[in-house]
Amino acid sequence: MSNIVIIGTGMAGFGAAYRLRKEGITPTMYDKNSYHGGHTTSFRHESGFVFDVGPHISFTKDERIQELFADCVDQLYETVNINLNNYWRGYWPQHPVQLHLHGLPEDVVVKVIADFVEERQKPEQPIRNYDDWLVSSFGSTFADLFPKQYTRKYHLTTADNMSIDWLGPRIYRPSLEEVLRGAISKTSPNIHYITHFRYPKQGGFVSYLRKFLSFGNIKLNHDVVSIDPKIRQIEFSNGMRGDYDGLISSVPLPDLISAIKDAPRDVMEAARLLACSSCVLVNIGLDRDTLSDAHMSYFYDEDICFTRLSFPHMLSKNNVPNGMGSIQAEVYFSDKYKPFAGKPDDLIAPVIADLRRCGLLRENDRIVFSSVMYLPYANIIFDLDRAAALETVHGYLDDIGIFYCGRYGDWGYMWTDESFKSGEAAAEAALSSLRTSLVHQRARFA
Ligand SMILES: Cc1cc2nc3c(=O)[nH]c(=O)nc-3n(C[C@H](O)[C@H](O)[C@H](O)COP(=O)(O)OP(=O)(O)OC[C@H]3O[C@@H](n4cnc5c(N)ncnc54)[C@H](O)[C@@H]3O)c2cc1C
Repeated sequence: MSNIVIIGTGMAGFGAAYRLRKEGITPTMYDKNSYHGGHTTSFRHESGFVFDVGPHISFTKDERIQELFADCVDQLYETVNINLNNYWRGYWPQHPVQLHLHGLPEDVVVKVIADFVEERQKPEQPIRNYDDWLVSSFGSTFADLFPKQYTRKYHLTTADNMSIDWLGPRIYRPSLEEVLRGAISKTSPNIHYITHFRYPKQGGFVSYLRKFLSFGNIKLNHDVVSIDPKIRQIEFSNGMRGDYDGLISSVPLPDLISAIKDAPRDVMEAARLLACSSCVLVNIGLDRDTLSDAHMSYFYDEDICFTRLSFPHMLSKNNVPNGMGSIQAEVYFSDKYKPFAGKPDDLIAPVIADLRRCGLLRENDRIVFSSVMYLPYANIIFDLDRAAALETVHGYLDDIGIFYCGRYGDWGYMWTDESFKSGEAAAEAALSSLRTSLVHQRARFA
């Protein structure tokens, strides 16, 4: 009962370990990396700059998770009112743009509003994909100029190749009155699903994992290369092996399926259809901390290489040496739709050039630090293949008794709190399955 193994030491892995601890079980937790935390890791460089693995802020509304995270940092966190903006052809509208048309070129505003009104007067049409949803929500001019363009940069495919089951509160569907107010007034209300966030005062986002570390027997540098579900054994690239009674995995599904011995061909094919973006993060440290009023900025223009910028020094001043500022740029690719062919370092120069073009960097700014990170798995792409392929893959894992969790195990658009809770749910399922098989074994021997 006690030999439960967790693959992955990210939020999902620690969610599972947290649930198991309540049963008095200390799982073995394997990770291929030389550090714990997965996507919630933070790196502190000798120069004093701290960069997370992509901008990470906690905006969970779940009070239990808020308390757990707060406890991990002994209540030492910042609470910050969020400010988000957008860059489009030299303009900097507030976020979301559909509520802040004020200041954009007059012809664009008039056309957007005329289309919006026309669209709302049409009889309701069936929504077949994200493209249909965008046009019916905003009219075609706004859809073309903003979200469809952003979709190609962030999701790396076109909106007509995407479903809408990931939307939730992410994209606000405004009323005509809200659009008009945002077009007339510079200070229309800030309606966004994130109003404020918390962030650890010290050490970057990874500090939120601090007190979970003792919940597992953590073995780093253990890259799972093979899993034999029949004999319940795992093999690692370092030559080690491990047995398990129950296995919980937060490994990205395509990698998990290719590691499973004798996985059926149709399952392998389904796993190959699952699409995810990859991301090159370019980190810049500067001798100036007055870079932007926004915590994050979204970039729509396809001739600007990054999709989003964030400013780690605005999350906590301890993320930078005194008086300095920092920028993290996200440049997206996808093995399925836009493979990344170069070296991550090659992106430093184009990112700096585009930061200058949009006016965020000045010619005389001194860049005191730069680095890159490569994320092979970033955001799940909800293309039209996803639902059927996922059903096949998850169905197979259910059949062979491997419990999956987290952003890349559930294969969803999940934030840290959701990944943690997904780990808890996977541990619950593993416990219940082990209890059932124990009852069966006892009945057999009785
Ligand atoms: C750019 C970006 C920005 C984000 N911003 C936010 C934000 O602001 N707020 C928020 O709440 N969420 C944010 N998220 C989402 C958040 O990162 C995820 O929800 C969460 O970190 C996922 O945790 P996980 O444990 O499921 O996956 P991971 O963190 O990826 O953990 C999986 C672990 O499995 C390990 N692993 C993989 N393969 C193997 C193998 N073969 N053998 C052994 N170990 C293996 C990995 O090394 C990793 O440690 C963001 C994500 C991205 C990509």
